[in-house]
Parts: sequence; structure tokens; C-alpha cells
Amino acid sequence: MTIEPRASIIATRLQNVNRVIAVASGKGGVGKSLIATGLATILTQQGHKVGLLDLDLYGPSDHIILGIKKQFPTEDKGLIPPTINNLQFMSIVYFTEDKPAAFRGTDITNIIIELLAITQWGHLDYLIIDMPPGIGDETLDIIKYIPQSEFIIVTTPSKVAYAAVQKLIDIVTELKLPLLGVIENMNMHTTSFTKKQLKNTSTMFLGSIPFDMDVESAIGNTQKFQNTKFIKDLKTCINTLNL
Ligand code: ADP
Ligand code: MG
Repeated sequence: MTIEPRASIIATRLQNVNRVIAVASGKGGVGKSLIATGLATILTQQGHKVGLLDLDLYGPSDHIILGIKKQFPTEDKGLIPPTINNLQFMSIVYFTEDKPAAFRGTDITNIIIELLAITQWGHLDYLIIDMPPGIGDETLDIIKYIPQSEFIIVTTPSKVAYAAVQKLIDIVTELKLPLLGVIENMNMHTTSFTKKQLKNTSTMFLGSIPFDMDVESAIGNTQKFQNTKFIKDLKTCINTLNL
């Protein structure tokens, strides 16, 4: 048996985190970051203790959505995430310094593991993870090191996105990981393509979020973001989950 000390360090770091929710997709550009950040914002507003962890090495964006510029982690036997509007925030961007990521597989894994091993979350009701797109090694590594992750999968009403999402659903199902359900984002129709795809499957359809023309102007302004139609629709999607 190989000894993996980092796995037990990560488990210790997360021992006071009640639930870990991973927002994932087989595809990029489907709204993972907006949904992960929105979910963290909604749960914080509801009075929960929430952490948001951006692990999308290819395009970390939660700090942009939240308008975080000057807040950095502080050191004290590890890294303490800055708290912004009651939300604890940690991002891979603090490690990659927002440079175009020219990392190779093992580097990526090491950065992710290091980040998981040194972040001091303390007690949290929810840790929301903005996952890297796709089902590459880094996604599988995160699953390996945080086996308690419950998944929310994001797709768009497109055959192209759905094909990739189906693969992720299959992997999550095969690994017997908890799958909370699928959210369809950026819908422009009155019917739902994804709802039809998931009919007669065991995967829960959480709902459809229409394209919101006004969301872009709310990026970087948490107050404004909280009041968008996007957030209202996201609340409806997660309503059935009893979070
Ligand atoms: P991902 O993290 O999956 O790559 P993002 O959350 O960055 O996707 O979303 C991609 C782009 O689409 C962003 O500019 C985001 O603001 C926009 N977007 C996402 N969802 C919606 C929506 N429901 N309405 C309007 N714009 C959206
Ligand atoms: Mg993203």
C-alpha cells in the first residue's frame, strides 16, 4: 500500500466542513463559475457559514464575479482564506497569480493538493467548489482527495454540451458519488432540452436558468449580483435540495 500523507492532511483540514458541494460540468463556458459563486452567495445570505473554493486552473473567475481585488489569504499555520461579505474565499488564482496557466498534469495536481492541504477553513456548513471543466486528471484528483463531494452538474441546452455532461454523469454514477442533480443554464427557450434528456433516468433535473441579459453588468458587484434574475432563478433550482 502506498502511503499518502497528503490525503490525511486534507481530510483533517476538511473535518469541520459539514458538506462539500462540487459544481462541475463536462464542458467549459456553461456557467459553472456563475452558479458556484451564486450558490455560495445565496447560502451565505441564508445565514450559513460558507466557503467558496475556485479550483478552475484554466480560468479562475470567482474573484472577478465577486469583485475581489485586494483581499489575500493570511498565514497562520496554513493559509486562512479572506472573508468577503461573510463568505470565506480561496482560489487557485492566488497560486497561479492569474498568469496564463502553462502547467502540466503533475504540476496541476500538486498545486491543487497543496492548496487543499494548507487552507484552514475552520467550521463551515458548506464548502462550494468551482471545479475545473471536463473530466481530466485534475477533476479525478479532486474527487480522490475530497471523496465526500456532492455534485451539481451544469449544462446548457445543447447537444454538444450535453454529450460531454453525460460522460461526467456516467463517471460520477460509476464512482457512486452523490449527484444532487443537473442545472440547465442559459436557456433561451420555453421548453427544456435537458429535462427531456434526463426523463426516465435516475438523475435529478434541478431546473433551467434562462439567459439573463443583465447579469454581465452585475459582475464584480456582489450587491448587484445578489439582486439579479439569475440568482432568483438559481434559488428556484436549488429549492428542492433543502440546503
Ligand atoms: P464556466 O465557469 O462554466 O466556464 P462562466 O460561469 O464563466 O462559465 O460563464 C461563462 C459566461 O457566460 C460568463 O461571461 C458568464 O457571465 C455568462 N453567463 C453564465 N450564465 C449566464 C446566464 N444565465 N445569463 C447570462 N450570462 C450568463
Ligand atoms: Mg469557470
